[in-house]
Amino acid sequence: MAESPVVSPRQPLLDEATGEGKPGQGLVGIGIEIGAGGGDRLEARPPEQGLSPPHVEGTGHQQHPPARAAQPFPGQPRLVAGGGPPHLQLPLPFWTGSDVAGEVTELGPGVAGWRLGERVAVNPNLTCGECEYCLQGDDSLCVNFGILGEHVPGGLADYVKVRAGSLIRLPDHVSFEDAAAFILVNMTAWRMLVTQARLRAAEDVLILGVGGGVASAAVQIAKLCGARVWVTSSSDQKLERAKAIGADELINYSREDWPKVVWERTGRRGVDVVLDSVGAQTWKGSLRCLARGGRLVTCGATSGPIGETDIRLVFWKQIRIIGSTMANRREVREVMAQLFRGALRSVVDRVFPLREAAQAQALLAEGKQFGKLVLIP
Ligand SMILES: [Zn+2]
Repeated sequence: MAESPVVSPRQPLLDEATGEGKPGQGLVGIGIEIGAGGGDRLEARPPEQGLSPPHVEGTGHQQHPPARAAQPFPGQPRLVAGGGPPHLQLPLPFWTGSDVAGEVTELGPGVAGWRLGERVAVNPNLTCGECEYCLQGDDSLCVNFGILGEHVPGGLADYVKVRAGSLIRLPDHVSFEDAAAFILVNMTAWRMLVTQARLRAAEDVLILGVGGGVASAAVQIAKLCGARVWVTSSSDQKLERAKAIGADELINYSREDWPKVVWERTGRRGVDVVLDSVGAQTWKGSLRCLARGGRLVTCGATSGPIGETDIRLVFWKQIRIIGSTMANRREVREVMAQLFRGALRSVVDRVFPLREAAQAQALLAEGKQFGKLVLIP
């Protein structure tokens, strides 16, 4: 790929005279330096394969480096130190942040088509651009796939350096908060429902655990598709929030046996699509409440990776089990267009200054939020 440097957290933007990180200029999100060409490419690969810990001394990060290591970006709570998945052995200090919006503050050599001060968001996919999947446009199948803020330190910072090809130009009427809160969960939910599950108008879709970022994004996307939307949560308050953004059928799984409720309320037909990112806890129930020819689409397994599958259900009801991760460039463009035209909205729970990221994380750990927490440097 011609544009080479991607996120380069080891080289935070420095004021050359003082060695200090440049001030945030009151921006929402973060400043963005764009690179092209040059040799400081940071591969999207797991840290154990050679990514050295980010260097924070002598930069603007110095004010809060100790806390930063344990601060996940909202929407990425699985990266909480001590609570993350075992396969992610991150070098500390590490900062997350997959969703980024801000102004372009610097251009790398050879970057064309972008101006300083432009308002942008960032596609968090880190892809090689060279493998067979990248070449056919299936970015999220890239054999070197990574995510900004997960495989390399991310946007929970004053500045981040990204590849020019990852930028998304923002219209003036879209705030940085809304753009940042929107990207990852909506691109994920869009691919799941629109591309993978091929959700159609008049179908029924069940979205599990609606307090989660992808799930709440999926509610709006499913409505946009014209589907009837079923949601589950253990919180009546979250169910009401889901109703406010379009959910039709609410099930509190702490009081009700949700697969049974779905089965009965659909006249023993089941739903056409289940969106399950919960995993082990819900897998069996998800299969049970699918209609004939139904599709189970999954993007995660927060409660555990091993689920029980009754194979008879799969062949007899001709169920399809479909995996999904992030989205390709076309899907990102499509879903961002829905934000820009107001057909989809960001779900923002609260906005914090970046220095209060630890409080934001504590709130995430409690699981009481509905939608995104946004941090502003
Ligand atoms: Zn690739």
